[in-house]
Amino acid sequence: MSSQGRRSAPLPKGWASRTRPRILRRDKHACQWPVITGGICGEPANQVDHKIPTHLGGQDCDANYWALCQWHHDQKTGREASAVAHAKPPRSRPAEAHPGLLP
Ligand SMILES: [Zn+2]
Repeated sequence: MSSQGRRSAPLPKGWASRTRPRILRRDKHACQWPVITGGICGEPANQVDHKIPTHLGGQDCDANYWALCQWHHDQKTGREASAVAHAKPPRSRPAEAHPGLLP
């Protein structure tokens, strides 16, 4: 797995050797992502992720970790990345005309 350049903080000590396998075992190697129909995704999970990212105030504790399948991990990572991008102030972009003023 390639390292993720966006991580602002290093992973907690013992992550790979202890925390990650512990969370995967706790979550029975099943993706914990809640699905719209109720319940969880349940696909084989090989990722352990912060439910609430640390840059949004999430803690490095078991309660904030969950197992995710690769697909949901990618979805979540992508969404967080775009959320961060959207949080940035717009770069001196000219104000758009009010829709009501358009012909
Ligand atoms: Zn999943």
